[in-house]
Amino acid sequence: MAENETAKIPKEYADDRVNDTKTRDVVVKMMKERGVELSDIAAITYGLQGKYIPGLSEKTCLEHVERVVMKREVQNAILTGLELDKLAESGAMSEPLRGMLLEDYGLYGVDEVLALAIVNVYGSIGFTNFGYVDKTKPGIIKKLDEIGKNTDQCHTFLDDIVGAIAAAAASSIAHRYAG
Ligand code: MG
Repeated sequence: MAENETAKIPKEYADDRVNDTKTRDVVVKMMKERGVELSDIAAITYGLQGKYIPGLSEKTCLEHVERVVMKREVQNAILTGLELDKLAESGAMSEPLRGMLLEDYGLYGVDEVLALAIVNVYGSIGFTNFGYVDKTKPGIIKKLDEIGKNTDQCHTFLDDIVGAIAAAAASSIAHRYAG
């Protein structure tokens, strides 16, 4: 890839069966309402790949994050996870699930499994990166984790979704710059 070339989504992919711009707007708004901007996710992606790819910018990372949230499977995981977080907060969820989500119970595990649906889209590099951000909790992930633990807000699914999108974008970049 030439130095000044950007990684914009090719037009022909912008509105097909796999990529959905309308749902993209919905999930981006949903994440914003829950405290996450795409630029927060791009900052994590930059943290994962910046040291390996000379000249990589946060802007390029953001373009790859944008590409990830265009994927229908990714959008479906975001819609599902955030809905469950919100339902747990609202009280419109039965026990014992509600309690497990509100306290982010360590042995619950379905939040990580749902996030794998996002990581899957870009293959095996994504798994390694997802495991890494899950352990190290960089940037907005740490913030979400703390808010989730110390307030009435539930971020049990959101923190994994953010980590998974960042990891998927890192994989997308790795594939783009490989070889
Ligand atoms: Mg979680």
